[in-house]
Amino acid sequence: QLRMLRSWKRVVPLLKLLGFVGWVVLFCEFLIYYLVMFQCTWPGLKLAHPREKEETSASTLKVLFLSDPHLLGTVRGHWFDKLRREWQMERAFQTAMWYLQPEIVFILGDVFDEGKWSTSQAWADDVRRFQKMFRHSSNTELIVVVGNHDIGFHYEMDQYKLRRFEKVFNFSSAELVSRKGINFVLVNSVALEGDGCSICLAVEEKLHHLSYALNCSRQRQADHSEKCSKVNKTPSSAPILLQHFPLYRISDSECTGEDAAPSEEKNAIFKAKYDVLSHEASQKLIWWFHPRLILSGHTHNACEVIHDRNIPEISVPSFSWRNRNNPSFIMGSISLTDFALSKCFLPRENTVLVIYCTAVASLIFVQAPLQLFHQLLYFTHHLHQKLKPT
Ligand SMILES: [Zn+2]
Repeated sequence: QLRMLRSWKRVVPLLKLLGFVGWVVLFCEFLIYYLVMFQCTWPGLKLAHPREKEETSASTLKVLFLSDPHLLGTVRGHWFDKLRREWQMERAFQTAMWYLQPEIVFILGDVFDEGKWSTSQAWADDVRRFQKMFRHSSNTELIVVVGNHDIGFHYEMDQYKLRRFEKVFNFSSAELVSRKGINFVLVNSVALEGDGCSICLAVEEKLHHLSYALNCSRQRQADHSEKCSKVNKTPSSAPILLQHFPLYRISDSECTGEDAAPSEEKNAIFKAKYDVLSHEASQKLIWWFHPRLILSGHTHNACEVIHDRNIPEISVPSFSWRNRNNPSFIMGSISLTDFALSKCFLPRENTVLVIYCTAVASLIFVQAPLQLFHQLLYFTHHLHQKLKPT
């Protein structure tokens, strides 16, 4: 029994060590997402009268917007980088689904990093991992918009890549999604090159038709023109544009906030049709749709721009820790006539690293000397027992 007690005494420190490591890992890889996300709340709409509150909550749509997860592929992705980033995004998304329970989630493009050149086998593997990471209940709808990394920039884009993307995500390059009477227009912004390519022509034609139908519905009460009578009815609220490329802007120099572009990147002049849409394509979208709000991705940084004096555009930062230290998503409460947006940050990568480093340091500099001290004490006690005259 004495022997058992001794071996148990030797196992206890090991168990303590394992318990400590287990707790640190559990906190950094699991609990921290809850802790950080509990600070996020749905933004409230400004109401003229408290009585409106009940009506509004029923007609308000809770939407999450995220962008640029860039799931790594086989060519550029190191396996550990891939594993780590995907675990982080999966935990962040799953925690958000459980805690915030949005009705719709929009991903604004660049779901994959290598969709632009991946083989069909690599593509299938990317899609499988995406579906696992971004799984959700049937109460939430997940809608994905195409980005340049999914199908390539305009010069790399072809029918094959576009079709395989459309098939997986049930996406169309110009589509109207209406929920609770709120109109979202999904745009394939890679096809807005304006050079008359066959994909570009088809997308522009569809967008034009769509804008026509929307404008007819919005003007219907005032104007029953004959042309509009032939057009499919849509809900009459002003649409929200969702696309990957931002509308044309010179640079990010005007952007503010802790997750705006770093100062050394801010003044870099954007290349039209590469960093942002061309000036012409941007004007076309505004003229056609008169949107009340635009959300886009691609730059990986946050920004808020006002177009034509009253149309706000929000650049949604990247959702991946590979692209930034403080990823986030946008939470929107949207009604027929109003919207309110707020940002929910995910845990900072630095915080997680600091916790791991502190834990390792405490093991080396506190636990290990303590352990040594205990062993020394045990040894001297043992020696003392042995040398004691009987
Ligand atoms: Zn992009």
